[in-house]
Amino acid sequence: MPEAVARAAEFLRSGALVGFPTETVYGLGADATNERAVAAIFAAKGRPHFNPLIVHIPVEEAEAFAEFDARARRIAAQFWPGPLTLVLPRRAGAGLSLLASAGLDTVALRAPAHPVAQKLMCATGRPIAAPSANRSGRVSPTEAAHVAAELGDAIALILDAGRAPVGLESTVLDLTGEVPALLRPGGITLEQLQASLGAIAIGKVAAGPARSPGMLASHYAPSLPLRLNVTEAHPEEALLAFGPNIPAGFAEVLWLSHSADLAEAAANLFAMLRRLDRPEFSGIAVMPIPNHGLGRAINDRLHRAAAPRP
Ligand code: AMP
Ligand code: MG
Repeated sequence: MPEAVARAAEFLRSGALVGFPTETVYGLGADATNERAVAAIFAAKGRPHFNPLIVHIPVEEAEAFAEFDARARRIAAQFWPGPLTLVLPRRAGAGLSLLASAGLDTVALRAPAHPVAQKLMCATGRPIAAPSANRSGRVSPTEAAHVAAELGDAIALILDAGRAPVGLESTVLDLTGEVPALLRPGGITLEQLQASLGAIAIGKVAAGPARSPGMLASHYAPSLPLRLNVTEAHPEEALLAFGPNIPAGFAEVLWLSHSADLAEAAANLFAMLRRLDRPEFSGIAVMPIPNHGLGRAINDRLHRAAAPRP
């Protein structure tokens, strides 16, 4: 692995794109200080240019790229490295690609905990802009093979470290306003953030859709239609089951978690959506998932995966 990481770092420094594991999902990385490399991410994903990217940095370098107040420092100390992205005022002159922020005067920063991501950042010596390594709007990759299947042609190298342990994207927390705002539920739960911050605004985004375009209605979508909160079987559908008791009569069943464990369900969600996304089924049915803790992020992804396509 050390050799592969060194090669990946070299590719990044030369402006190429690299697929790499993080604890949340696999990322499509580019040197965040190289405008052309960042543009290549948008092209490879077919991502709308108004949707800004998360910039990945080692914890100790974060303050070079954004302005941290006491509150941001406290949250970073508590949850970094980890699956939490902070939206903060951009620091002028830090050399970050403007495209990475989609022209906003804020930047989304995250310090990942995955050891391979950390080694890659260290070997590259640059901040790494990285969205999930999937075509825009589709299911996020939790294994290297998912990345190769969808974006292999656009990527110089993919670092394979097995399954992404969390399996859902990071929580995005906007700390640019007086009241912290949850822009996307994810790997750090709302309950964890509330315990530390008190009141948090949910889904109340001040300046319209460009503020956090990842909140677009349709996202994370498989090809098949999704039916949510399912309690009755359709014989042509495949079922994503949760908990020990399931309605009988589906064409196929995969268990997000037999023991109703939300962390296990989160880790399985995207890979199982991919496995069931086959034309022999008429759709994918999903049993109800409790809406607390990681369940909130799971339900967020499911609702967008089920939303009408543009
Ligand atoms: P992705 O890279 O696909 O995991 O998505 C990153 C998420 O962070 C998306 O929801 C973006 O809209 C959001 N995001 C990135 N940068 C910013 C920013 N400066 N302000 C608000 N949201 C952001
Ligand atoms: Mg994504």
